[in-house]
Amino acid sequence: KRSTDFQNSPLPDFTKPQVRDQLPQAIAHLRACLNSAPETPLLIGSEQIRTSDTFDSLNPNAPNERIATVSIAQEEHIAKAIQAAKKASGSWAKLSFAQRTDLLKSAAAKMSERLWELSALQVLETGKQWSEALGDVAEAIDFLNYYAQQALRFDTPSDCGKTLGESNQLHYRPRGIATVIAPWNFPLAISCGMTAAALVTGNPVLYKPSSQSARIGYEFVRLMLEAGFPPGALNYLPGSGQIVGNALANHPEISTIAFTGSRAVGMRLIQSAANPPPDAREIKRVICEMGGKNAILIDSDADLDEAIPAILYSAFGYQGQKCSACSRLIVLESIYSHFVKRFKSAVAKIRVGPAEDPRNDLGAVIDASAQRKILEYIEIGKDEASLLYQSEAPEYGYFVPLTVFEKAHPNHRLAQEEIFGPVLSIVKAPDFETAIKYANDTPYALTGGLFSRSPQHIALAREKFDVGNLYINRGITGAMVERHPFGGHKFSGLGTKAGGPDYLLQFLNTKSISENT
Ligand code: GLU
Repeated sequence: KRSTDFQNSPLPDFTKPQVRDQLPQAIAHLRACLNSAPETPLLIGSEQIRTSDTFDSLNPNAPNERIATVSIAQEEHIAKAIQAAKKASGSWAKLSFAQRTDLLKSAAAKMSERLWELSALQVLETGKQWSEALGDVAEAIDFLNYYAQQALRFDTPSDCGKTLGESNQLHYRPRGIATVIAPWNFPLAISCGMTAAALVTGNPVLYKPSSQSARIGYEFVRLMLEAGFPPGALNYLPGSGQIVGNALANHPEISTIAFTGSRAVGMRLIQSAANPPPDAREIKRVICEMGGKNAILIDSDADLDEAIPAILYSAFGYQGQKCSACSRLIVLESIYSHFVKRFKSAVAKIRVGPAEDPRNDLGAVIDASAQRKILEYIEIGKDEASLLYQSEAPEYGYFVPLTVFEKAHPNHRLAQEEIFGPVLSIVKAPDFETAIKYANDTPYALTGGLFSRSPQHIALAREKFDVGNLYINRGITGAMVERHPFGGHKFSGLGTKAGGPDYLLQFLNTKSISENT
């Protein structure tokens, strides 16, 4: 049944100067605060804990700017957080779904009030362009409101059919403590989506933010606590994947792991869930949203006026650092040279420079190791394909040049492996069916797109293009909560779609009760 009272948050109207001025003001204000108090402690139960071991979170466009000095959780803190979560667990699980929903709604209201401040933080800590930063906060608000509305149905057990003398129902129960391991690329939205889903279904959360967006994670947890989530229900545990991630993955008292990030880490979490320690009481449920190698197909009759801007945004929005981003263009031979010529002139107009300046389209990538990895792939590309276009890139900051290769081979590394940066490869296909074959021929199945005016080809893509999210005659990023439930299969993910009607079920155990009456 389609929900009736959920609305996606509106995005600010930048044509109005009074709206447009808000973000630079919020950035200036945030900078002034950063100079005085950039330290973020761990948040465990009602305690704030500062550790001697810390790391710095930096502005990727200007790495001499420190956004936070972050306390690092150790095993002892995880043990403490488990105790706090267990203490909160009984009363938290006993509340009705409707009661927990009220807290999500009040967190959504607080987030709307702090829209500019939270967006400014994203610009500085994760190098998001203005619209990307605002979009992320809007999506976080949407997750809170949508899961609040979706959770209400679980207060009433489902009726499983009647027979004379027997009543049958399905009840929904919290699973137990959940770990949320979040990425930096949608630092508030994805953290908030996974956490809100676990909380509203009655499970306390141990939250590990990504180190590159630890300050945003901290502000998120503080906001949730201010909204009324009880201490212990949500704990903030930044740290390395090696220590915090592993400890959380292996701890016998954790029932569910919700993860968004790389395929390698996701696979490790699945492996450790499959090898429970001897004192484990259950098999952990692992919900993973991993990578993509997403393709857009350009049919011979594609409307290029529509296709080219949509491709540019899908491939290079937020520097291509979205698992939904387009990294392969599969173009039919009959239109190939015409398309490539037009595409090259359009891509050359993209301006590269710090994300904070709204005249720039493409900013720095998240950190030095991402920069290194992307530059290595560009070298691999130079061997495997032919370079169509490469932009300049500023020397200072974690910049990489926007790079487009053509005549890429569908089986080469360039067209098979996730690069997670502004690198796009164009592959030529002799006919439409081969184009779909190339598109499907990777380990991933996340997003995919098609520009075509042929009803037969659109029908074929609907049927055969094997992706979690198929987008026809539009861009392939920016899934909206409720309208575009998001997530993939194959090696792109495990679990049901975020922002869709089945997502909350993953955080629940169902109990079938049959009574002879
Ligand atoms: N949901 C985002 C989108 O549709 C992508 C999420 C991700 O990169 O993990 O663009």
